[in-house]
Amino acid sequence: MRIAIIGAGIGGLTLAKELSPHADVVVFEKARGVGGRMSTRRAGDYAFDHGAPSFTAQSDAFKAFLSPFEQEGTIRPWQGPCLRTDEGSTSLIESKDRLVAAPQMNSLCKALAAGLNMRVSCEVAPLQEGARAPWTLKDKTEELLGTFDWIISTAPSPQTKRLFAHHLPEDNPFEGHVMAPSFVLMVGVQTPWHRDWTCATFDQTPIHWISVNTTKPGRNQAVTCFVARASSPWSYSHLEDNLDEVKRAVVDHFCYLTDFTPDELSHTDLHRWRYALPGENQLCQTFFCKERNVAALIEGGKNGGVEGSWHSAQNLAKRLIPIIQGAHS
Ligand SMILES: Cc1cc2nc3c(=O)[nH]c(=O)nc-3n(C[C@H](O)[C@H](O)[C@H](O)COP(=O)(O)OP(=O)(O)OC[C@H]3O[C@@H](n4cnc5c(N)ncnc54)[C@H](O)[C@@H]3O)c2cc1C
Repeated sequence: MRIAIIGAGIGGLTLAKELSPHADVVVFEKARGVGGRMSTRRAGDYAFDHGAPSFTAQSDAFKAFLSPFEQEGTIRPWQGPCLRTDEGSTSLIESKDRLVAAPQMNSLCKALAAGLNMRVSCEVAPLQEGARAPWTLKDKTEELLGTFDWIISTAPSPQTKRLFAHHLPEDNPFEGHVMAPSFVLMVGVQTPWHRDWTCATFDQTPIHWISVNTTKPGRNQAVTCFVARASSPWSYSHLEDNLDEVKRAVVDHFCYLTDFTPDELSHTDLHRWRYALPGENQLCQTFFCKERNVAALIEGGKNGGVEGSWHSAQNLAKRLIPIIQGAHS
């Protein structure tokens, strides 16, 4: 059986690892590398985990999955205090249970991708109207990618909705599923970091969160890399604004919060996550349509994040493996 998985984030790669012993699996990723929202962007001496800054492991199953990566040093704790500013008062809180991949956030996905059949820089086009399984898959330039029995999307829900648009039942979980945007500013400074906090939260806009990326284990600590995240409401209200103007506003606020002058920032870059995080009240789900042979991961805000995507991928694999085995018997 041939299975196409769309997306090489933690969800798609976990699913591919689980299904590969049972089927002929190809992973398609539109970006140049793996990681999805666990990606890292490099610029000279600087490296920025501009998606998830860290994650936690609550369940025994996820802890067991991470254990070999912890032993080899790919997963490590991120220690150090977090600064909280709230209504004018500031406090330092010891952060607990934060995990990161090392030496950069995409290292875990890179390790998972080893040995898989991957196609990066390949944006899959929506499934054609009137088509049926086995699916003929094309990229957005109409290049033929192959024929597959199942198509599984691990893209954020609005993107999956577009991919499967002609093949969704009326009553589908993508209707009303919301993903909030987030602007992320990456800042590089040529000097090492000497202050006592590793991340900070603010009750202000635009920026409500800053992580000092270089305080994570395995990073180049000769320089300082910051990732500053704008709040979802602010990002939403400026989503279609001119990106230079958005960047200027976020840089100004960054300087105000950190006391750096604009001249001290030797590198600045802005990334717009159009679909960063799901609504807080939504639950992780899987979409599974046995009549059409399409399936998808749908992220929740309540039990989501990196661990939630991993669990969803495991759950989907458990539903697909008996189908694959049934087809072979
Ligand atoms: C700013 C930010 C902060 C976050 N903070 C945290 C946090 O603190 N803790 C935490 O646990 N989680 C956090 N998250 C969420 C976490 O990053 C995600 O839950 C997790 O990485 C999702 O993994 P995934 O594989 O399900 O999806 P993704 O990582 O989004 O992977 C989907 C992939 O599909 C690809 N794709 C989409 N369409 C196509 C197409 N047509 N063809 C080919 N490829 C396609 C995309 O390029 C992407 O790589 C944060 C996310 C962001 C953006």
